Amino acid sequence: MKIIMLGAPGAGKGTQAKKIADKYSIPHISTGDIFRANIKEGTELGKKAKTYMDQGLLVPDELVVDLVVDRVQQDDCSNGYVLDGFPRTIPQAESLDAALEKLGDKIDYAINVEVPDENIVRRMSGRRACLACGATYHLVHIPPKKEGICDNCGKELVLRDDDKPETVTKRLNVYHEQTQPLIDYYTTKNVLAEVDGTKDMEEVFQDIVKVLGV
Ligand code: ADP
Ligand code: ADP
Ligand code: ZN
Repeated sequence: MKIIMLGAPGAGKGTQAKKIADKYSIPHISTGDIFRANIKEGTELGKKAKTYMDQGLLVPDELVVDLVVDRVQQDDCSNGYVLDGFPRTIPQAESLDAALEKLGDKIDYAINVEVPDENIVRRMSGRRACLACGATYHLVHIPPKKEGICDNCGKELVLRDDDKPETVTKRLNVYHEQTQPLIDYYTTKNVLAEVDGTKDMEEVFQDIVKVLGV
């Protein structure tokens, strides 16, 4: 099962992608997490990506496409995967499709987690992330068991630099301009499914499970 998560920043793609990955035993591939890990390790890729991420801009397509195309060909992806945060532009989607086609493969579902802009800024200001393991919490909706500490790995939770309100507004604009057109793209490919991302986390997940049908 090869799945793409679509939706605005903060719509809950990562939260749902992790639950899908657990239930169906497939890898969760988050390009944002890959970039943040590279920034933490101080790699060249990390340094390049950070200049864009800090401004709320997308990292250029050429820095992300090969990375994902390589990743989905690794052994653990043979039964499928859930892509979170990729593709984010039409050229990224076309490159992915072309690479998969060469392998005789294709995307099965593109799940659009729909959340209106008004809700997004509120969600993002409450988001707390663990940069060590990639887990995500929300101060009000999905709090960690112990305040400020990751349930998974015990490390400290932080407000991401790019989750400050000024940058969130910028990211939302970038989303509408560059990523939202993917909804039509995957509709045309007959793989789009929409879920209402304003429901609580478990309800959204049940709606996704219904779409996946197993
Ligand atoms: P969110 O989950 O809030 O949407 P992500 O963690 O997916 O954020 O991404 C954080 C930042 O990483 C993005 O704002 C962008 O700068 C960069 N990024 C992640 N994935 C991509 C991608 N596929 N193409 C370009 N930039 C990306
Ligand atoms: P994305 O990956 O799309 O950027 P996240 O999964 O990181 O989004 O979720 C954004 C924020 O909203 C996080 O703080 C997360 O804990 C919270 N969140 C996710 N799903 C829900 C939901 N259904 N209801 C309320 N808050 C949610
Ligand atoms: Zn953690």
